[in-house]
Amino acid sequence: MDTLAKWLSEQTRDGKHRSLTPIKRLSPGFLQSTTTEFSAPLLDFSSNDYLALSQHPEMVMAGHRCLDTYGCGVGGARLMSGDLELFHELEDRVARFKTREAALVFGSGYLGNLGVISSLTGRGDVIFSDRLNHASIHDGCRLSGAGLVRFRHNDPDHLEDCLKKKRGKGRALIVVESIYSMDGDRCPLPELVVLKQRYDTLLMVDEAHATGIFGSNGGGVIQEDGVSEQVDVAFGTFGKALGSYGAYVAGSPILKDFLINRARSFIFSTGLPPAVIGCSLTALKIVEENPGMGKKLLEKAAFFRMCLCQAGLPGELTGASQIIPILVGDSDAAVALADECRRNGVFATAVRPPTVPVGAARLRFSISLAHTSENLREAAGVLAESSRKIGVRVRVL
Ligand SMILES: *Cc1c(COP(=O)(O)O)cnc(C)c1O
Repeated sequence: MDTLAKWLSEQTRDGKHRSLTPIKRLSPGFLQSTTTEFSAPLLDFSSNDYLALSQHPEMVMAGHRCLDTYGCGVGGARLMSGDLELFHELEDRVARFKTREAALVFGSGYLGNLGVISSLTGRGDVIFSDRLNHASIHDGCRLSGAGLVRFRHNDPDHLEDCLKKKRGKGRALIVVESIYSMDGDRCPLPELVVLKQRYDTLLMVDEAHATGIFGSNGGGVIQEDGVSEQVDVAFGTFGKALGSYGAYVAGSPILKDFLINRARSFIFSTGLPPAVIGCSLTALKIVEENPGMGKKLLEKAAFFRMCLCQAGLPGELTGASQIIPILVGDSDAAVALADECRRNGVFATAVRPPTVPVGAARLRFSISLAHTSENLREAAGVLAESSRKIGVRVRVL
């Protein structure tokens, strides 16, 4: 325990210590801290509930119905006796949603990345992973035992250099996100498809932040870019824009069969609760029946950037997604700015190393359909005012 305490005090000393802050969710887009320091309702810019579906009445009802019909849990892994028909209904729906032949549901995005990447590659293989990939992708790569080459973020030229030098004779996998969680920028997928074909690799795309938002029916960037057929492993989550929980992999029937037999985080883990599956099914239905939601969200993000500019903050006026990073640099300054914003009614999380590179601490603003124009204008004003007040310089990325 002494060594644990020592490690914790070093984290505190280095400005890297994290702690939990319990909150109450109010109406979509608003939350309230249950600790006394910030007890007023806050405008929430920290959530990945981009389409404000997490409290959608139709989804809540679907969850209730499944609880009534199937009970709370499935009582086992799907390969044991946990394989409700409901899972297959969701997987058929996901396959159609992603315009692929098959899909498999995982317990969460973290479990999915761990299981998929470590099944597809092993010793003697090589993974080419974007340097800014999510921690769950990175952990999957490490678990696989394959060689790991991290190429410069969104840099196909550097990726090709790496492929030339390190492709090897085994299986090779290129793994990227379509929309990056901390920078909100978009992967140049068509260029990666050329490289994957030229160097005979598998291509895996994690659409955690794009699912439900990009593509004509919310099917993601691979759909918008017209490369669904060339992506071997189309990965995404239900816990963000879709407002539910869990993750999916879409691809060929062989991929699905292989993962069922090989992915340990699928095989050795209890199936998701039926209510969660019901919510996910309904989320897909809502997104497919309301094709304008993603576009509307991106319009709100563009409006927020304009508000930031009008409030006098320097930086980019256009961005690729609903995620808007406000670069601060220093970790302590980022935390101080987040606190000052919170005192003024705006909740945005300070993101610090190791989640982002050293010296690139930031406030991450996630725009949601729940935010009104007034909310967005107000938040931009609070951010500008707070940064002036505490003397922290920021730049909109
Ligand atoms: C959030 C996220 C995950 C993890 O998904 P969970 O369902 O929250 O475990 C995986 N990949 C990316 C890119 C993510 O942003």
